[in-house]
Amino acid sequence: MENRQSLKLWYVSALRRCNFRCAYCASNQPAIKDRLEWKKPEEADTHQQIVQWITKLPYQIQLRMNSIGEPFTSKGYLDSVAQLSHAENIQFVEILTNGSFAKSQFEAFSKKVNMKKLSLWMTFHHTQIPMETFLAAAMQAQESGASVVVHALIFPDSIDSTIRLKAECKQRGLTFHSVVGFNHNKAYKENSSVIPALTKENWPIIHKLDSGSSVPVLAAAMKPASFECSAGHQYFFISSRGNVYRCKPYSEGGPESALGSALDPQFLPPIRKKKYLVCAHQRSCICVEDHQHLKGIKVKKTKRNSFISLSKIDFE
Ligand code: SF4
Ligand code: SF4
Repeated sequence: MENRQSLKLWYVSALRRCNFRCAYCASNQPAIKDRLEWKKPEEADTHQQIVQWITKLPYQIQLRMNSIGEPFTSKGYLDSVAQLSHAENIQFVEILTNGSFAKSQFEAFSKKVNMKKLSLWMTFHHTQIPMETFLAAAMQAQESGASVVVHALIFPDSIDSTIRLKAECKQRGLTFHSVVGFNHNKAYKENSSVIPALTKENWPIIHKLDSGSSVPVLAAAMKPASFECSAGHQYFFISSRGNVYRCKPYSEGGPESALGSALDPQFLPPIRKKKYLVCAHQRSCICVEDHQHLKGIKVKKTKRNSFISLSKIDFE
């Protein structure tokens, strides 16, 4: 497997289930109300076909796999993660969780999954779960052999808890990452800016805490057209319907239609020979999964299997 070309894939599935109710939820607070895990039975089939397709690719895959909400609310989804973790071509499979899984649930999951290839991106939602419960879950996952990154969102009312979480992670040997949170749903009415924590008063502490993208990178991401980018060379995006694009913005009214479909077992992502190509997207490229591929961005290697750069994303 080591000699194979590396490929990063970001796949956002159609699963929409969550057990939390964060006021700032960007995904319209998916609930667990359906008897069936997937809204439509065909979505489960599509997901399974996409998983199969990924496991057959002749590359060494670094996979970030999002469900909308919490993956531990779906047994079927977790089974597919376990399946991917045993595939020979998978370097790691990273899933995003809110850390609410029960100890026994994780124990059961750990018997099915290849822990060496499992990566958990664990976001702490300060209004929804006690920090101790969350940290216990993170420690359980890490001690079971998974690669864990604790992620925090910085809001006006979570600055103190983020500082404490960072210290607690350091003490426990957990990798920590934090970014400023966006004011989705106008959750922070008293400060209606897009990034409510970012005030003049808070700036010094935010500057220290935030490990997201630097101001020049964010400025480029707001208007990426004319910047060179390696998406389509070492990275592709897979939509919930299995359509494959060079990146997520290209799947949302970008200048190119889908490159092909993961539902076609014969389809291989057309890896561009040239590493960089000028971006032709006329809108923003706000997700770090995408814009971290802009030319000139340095990405530090870490011990953790993480799809996203764990140090501040900046131009060299
Ligand atoms: S955990 Fe995520 S998906 Fe669930 S309500 Fe909170 S922000 Fe939304
Ligand atoms: S800059 Fe963003 S939108 Fe443009 S090609 Fe790269 S990832 Fe896609």
